Amino acid sequence: MVKDLVCGMEVDEEKAPAKLEYKGKMYYFCAPVCKEPFEKEPEKYIKPHRRCC
Ligand SMILES: [Zn+2]
Repeated sequence: MVKDLVCGMEVDEEKAPAKLEYKGKMYYFCAPVCKEPFEKEPEKYIKPHRRCC
């Protein structure tokens, strides 16, 4: 299982309804609606922490 970085849900790689390769890594999403915002701003979701201070 991998995490859908947009909504935080656990997604099964083999059954993921949406996926996207970004910088050589595959990202999985629970639905195409979660893939859309990731496609637009991948860095926003990949970075584990919000910009601080
Ligand atoms: Zn999702």
